[in-house]
Amino acid sequence: MKRKGILIVVSGFSGAGKGTLMKRLVSDYENYALSVSMTTRNPRPGEVSGREYFFVSREEFEKQIAENGLVEYASYCDNYYGTPKAYVEEQLEKGKDVILEIEIQGALKVKKQFPEALLLFVMPPNAQELRRRLEGRGTETKEVIDKRLKRAAEEAEGIEEYDYIVINDDLEECVRHMHSVIMAAHDTPDRCGDLIEKMRKELEAFAK
Ligand code: ADP
Ligand code: 5GP
Repeated sequence: MKRKGILIVVSGFSGAGKGTLMKRLVSDYENYALSVSMTTRNPRPGEVSGREYFFVSREEFEKQIAENGLVEYASYCDNYYGTPKAYVEEQLEKGKDVILEIEIQGALKVKKQFPEALLLFVMPPNAQELRRRLEGRGTETKEVIDKRLKRAAEEAEGIEEYDYIVINDDLEECVRHMHSVIMAAHDTPDRCGDLIEKMRKELEAFAK
């Protein structure tokens, strides 16, 4: 029986290491497809449109909303971020596990639309380390870093909505652990409806 792909939502405070982890999952294992979001924020040095994000104007973003081209979208620290629909549908169909690296408002919208989605929340080992990573990345001004840390406190209120917490302390260990959590999630009964149905049908035949 063909294994169906699942939607994996990865959230976590800015600087927790989500982007780093996602890149590693995609390069270390074959079953993942990483969704590239659309955003109105400016590219950071080294970011390429179509790779990290599709960088678009507010006008273009609002056109996508109007045309129902996004699975979900949200506003985060004064910018729009959203998940293009076509890629997600195409990759799930191919049996890939599709990773959406999105913030909490979007994560909850995805959970509503796709109840079988797996929601993971990435955390640093402690808050000091989060600040160190954000500052060490060197891609935001002090003002933006403060805004993101303030936002982290708000996001921490929603952690219980997620299925698993993933602690990103040692990167290598975290990548392996995250992959095992995802593999295990494939085997929960709510994600194996077709398999259960098939087994029941076969057993019914014995009873006749
Ligand atoms: P996010 O996507 O969650 O905002 P990033 O992946 O950009 O976070 O990581 C933030 C910074 O922390 C980057 O400079 C990255 O290299 C670093 N980083 C990520 N994971 C770890 C880790 N396990 N240990 C130390 N530094 C890390
Ligand atoms: P950053 O500006 O650091 O790349 O991302 C800021 C926040 O937006 C992060 O929490 C990230 O997970 C989230 N984000 C990125 N893409 C999307 C998206 O398509 N939808 C939603 N809802 N959030 C997103």
